[in-house]
Amino acid sequence: MHTIIEPFRIKSVEPIYFTSHAERLEILKEAHYNPFLIRARDVIIDLLTDSGTSAMSSEQWAGVMRGDESYAGSDSFFRFEKIVNEITGMPYIIPTHQGRASEKILFSTVGATGKYVLSNTLFDTTRANVEFAGAQGVDLRCAESKDPDTIAPFKGNMDTAALQAFIDEHGAEQVSMVIITVTNNSGGGQPVSMANIGAVKAICKSYNIPLFIDACRFAENAYFIKLREPGYGTKSILQIAHELFSYADGCTMSAKKDAFANIGGFLAMRDGQLAEKCRNLLIITEGFLTYGGLAGRDLEAVAIGLREVMNEDYLKYRVRSIQYIGEKLDAFGIPYVKPTGGHAIYLDAGRFMDHIPVHHYPGQALCCALYLEGGIRGVEIGSVMFGKYAADGSLIAPPIELVRLAIPRRVYTQSHIDYVAEVIAAVYQKRHGFGGYRITYEPPMLRHFTARFEPLQ
Ligand SMILES: *Cc1c(COP(=O)(O)O)cnc(C)c1O
Repeated sequence: MHTIIEPFRIKSVEPIYFTSHAERLEILKEAHYNPFLIRARDVIIDLLTDSGTSAMSSEQWAGVMRGDESYAGSDSFFRFEKIVNEITGMPYIIPTHQGRASEKILFSTVGATGKYVLSNTLFDTTRANVEFAGAQGVDLRCAESKDPDTIAPFKGNMDTAALQAFIDEHGAEQVSMVIITVTNNSGGGQPVSMANIGAVKAICKSYNIPLFIDACRFAENAYFIKLREPGYGTKSILQIAHELFSYADGCTMSAKKDAFANIGGFLAMRDGQLAEKCRNLLIITEGFLTYGGLAGRDLEAVAIGLREVMNEDYLKYRVRSIQYIGEKLDAFGIPYVKPTGGHAIYLDAGRFMDHIPVHHYPGQALCCALYLEGGIRGVEIGSVMFGKYAADGSLIAPPIELVRLAIPRRVYTQSHIDYVAEVIAAVYQKRHGFGGYRITYEPPMLRHFTARFEPLQ
């Protein structure tokens, strides 16, 4: 078979600035060993996130020009509303400036306070918004997701037996909602099967618990369903997505992911009364009903992006380019979460840096090492992002230490990716030369964004 090539040509380019190893040592120190605090121009390949970092298409840029900036009832809003409705089938569509604004509005209005929000895995901003609303988030991941080496088609699934047991133990009235993240970002970018969503829905329905979808990567998830789940091979991505959303009472979405937009999001739902409450909060915090926190041009870019992302030539290339990195890592025996997911490669930092104990943050150490070695920026998804403190001040670590290298959509070429694999391999070969870190400053919430570190001797 031939190489699966990038399904686009490049019309406009941005420079990459190169730094030396000595410069990077200094830059990293100044950033307090937190890659979030490094200036973007000091990064060679930026895999911090796939959020808002997509290359927009020429059609999207044309849409930006066409954007209708009317305060109320802009044409761009109606084009945006139409495609979101086509995909989700949901009648109430509320634009927001990004995913977390949808989460904030949703959890503030559903009466979550004092209750539980159950999930396959809550994303970090979702968990923070759940907690900010006075609720408690609980992840009920399927058993096969817990071992990074297990190859299974749908490791993003929710554990339905655990869901049933949780409801039996705590009572359905204590569960504010169930929210399924597709694909499961914090769980390795792994997809969720249609069967799993259907089974979760059946349980929710029998207890009258609302089911929401965190839809950031709905198209990548739909493509995995098409490839891996019996009965979906001949369906279109739109049909699969539509079916997926048919199980849900609502969804939150960051258009910075699968809509190829640099900013944007939405909240959609079937319940008119809930939508009314959400819209009241929207007007106070985001803006009028037909623009949320967005410009008309942003709504236009999102509307076009949502159609483009369902193109199967694109999705094939997308999934293949992540798999390609995995194959390169396999050649060196480098541990990562298998199989590769939709938008990122997740290095198993706990095993990669097995000489660094968890309270010295092996994931952070790996992130810093990748930057020093090759100017690559990734993100720790482990004890820094999700760690909590016990009453005695000791660290409560999440089950697995990961470093996520997220691949921006349509941005890097195969030679960039080859370089990334070479740098990872070089760090792996000299990994025992890298030590752990301690935290010198941390904010009370979402600490990974702004925490400061110091290398341990
Ligand atoms: C990015 C993301 C969010 C939050 O969206 P923002 O646009 O960054 O606010 C929520 N859930 C998941 C799964 C995400 O990947």
